[in-house]
Amino acid sequence: MSTLKFTSADLWAQIENHFEQAHGERFAFGFTRLLHDSADGPVLEVVNVHLVPDEDVHHDRTGWYLSETALDRVHNYALRAGLGIAEFHNHGPGHAAFSRTDERGLAPMAQYVLDLLPGRPYVAGVWAAGQVHVEWWWAGREQVGGAGSQPGAPVERRGFDTMTVCGDRLFVPNAVPQPDPRMGRQEKLLTGEGQAALGALRIAVVGAGGTGSHMLIQLAYLGARNLVILDDDLLEETNLNRVVTAGHDDVGTAKTTLAERRIKDVDPCAHVRTYPRLSVDGEHPELRDVDLIIGCVDHDGPRHRLMQIALETRTPYLDVATGVDDDSTPAQVGGRVILCALSGPCLNCLDELDPQEIGRWGKSTEQQELDRAHGYGTNEPSPSVVFLNGLVVSAAIGELVAWVSGARPPATYLDIDIVGMAKTPGTQVAPRKVTPRDPDCLECG
Ligand SMILES: [Zn+2]
Ligand SMILES: [Zn+2]
Repeated sequence: MSTLKFTSADLWAQIENHFEQAHGERFAFGFTRLLHDSADGPVLEVVNVHLVPDEDVHHDRTGWYLSETALDRVHNYALRAGLGIAEFHNHGPGHAAFSRTDERGLAPMAQYVLDLLPGRPYVAGVWAAGQVHVEWWWAGREQVGGAGSQPGAPVERRGFDTMTVCGDRLFVPNAVPQPDPRMGRQEKLLTGEGQAALGALRIAVVGAGGTGSHMLIQLAYLGARNLVILDDDLLEETNLNRVVTAGHDDVGTAKTTLAERRIKDVDPCAHVRTYPRLSVDGEHPELRDVDLIIGCVDHDGPRHRLMQIALETRTPYLDVATGVDDDSTPAQVGGRVILCALSGPCLNCLDELDPQEIGRWGKSTEQQELDRAHGYGTNEPSPSVVFLNGLVVSAAIGELVAWVSGARPPATYLDIDIVGMAKTPGTQVAPRKVTPRDPDCLECG
């Protein structure tokens, strides 16, 4: 999937303010770095912007134009900084689309910039009343068997699947709302933009078991229709108390197959891709072109790896964890939801990762047996129950809905406690006050 990421919402806000206050056409540039070359196009992050002052914009009967000086300034900066260019301009209210005048200028400009900045995709977009249409041009991609980035390589051109702005709201300005009667009863809560965003976002859910099965079903009902699932467990009889995608005839079937079947029941148009489990040293390209990674795993090894991939690819990471401690009296039954949304703390900043548990993950079977003989990692699997999984996942989904609808910023950390520490009877769900991101953090610093 191709995507353009504004990981700092402030950069997009600067461009939008510039356009909202325009009397005629205005221009703004984003400077991009390439995060991933996916089969469907580039994954780019905007790391800086430049707003073109009005004295550098002229117009005549045929359209609005940038001065040579302004263009040189932008091109020279990109060349020096080793970044790509994303050009935006505004139109009046209406459907965001390139005009015929835009089209005449786009091909030569794209070719010029591709030759000037080899290996870096060129991006152009048009803004109209908050909606965006944005496309990329790229020459000689490895992915399509291209000849590298030499001048003269054939140029590919396509629209971005998503453009995301990650801040207090997770916004997808190029998502086109699709009227859908199925969503009528939730529209006021999600908003049209939030619903369109959910439909466009590519969301990876890692783990399709106890918590993952709840997560995937709820996402499908909400209208998320572009899902990536990682798991290669087969359903066991002891999973039948909690894997909500499964029935009693499904023992031995892959959990991803069960999840996909259930998602397609809810929404036959949903697009689902399934992959094997996360590996300790795998590159996992399937996680490098998504807009959100959700961890539904029960071990800090994969949790840590997921967070690393999310940090490398500048992707927000939503992590759910449940726990039942039956050694204490009363038993502690609870969980937590953490959203690592790029500007905030990561799991390591929050001291949520157990280095010993991470170390044990990915060890050979012989090594694990040796560890067990020495008393490490001998814990019996703790109890796992459907109501706890459902509660923790619903709380996480609630934060996601608040985030895409813009109702309020999502909580970074939610504590969920059913039986244990809280003295007041009744289930408690409470946001935890968290420390800001640690600038010296070994993972995200
Ligand atoms: Zn235009
Ligand atoms: Zn950190």
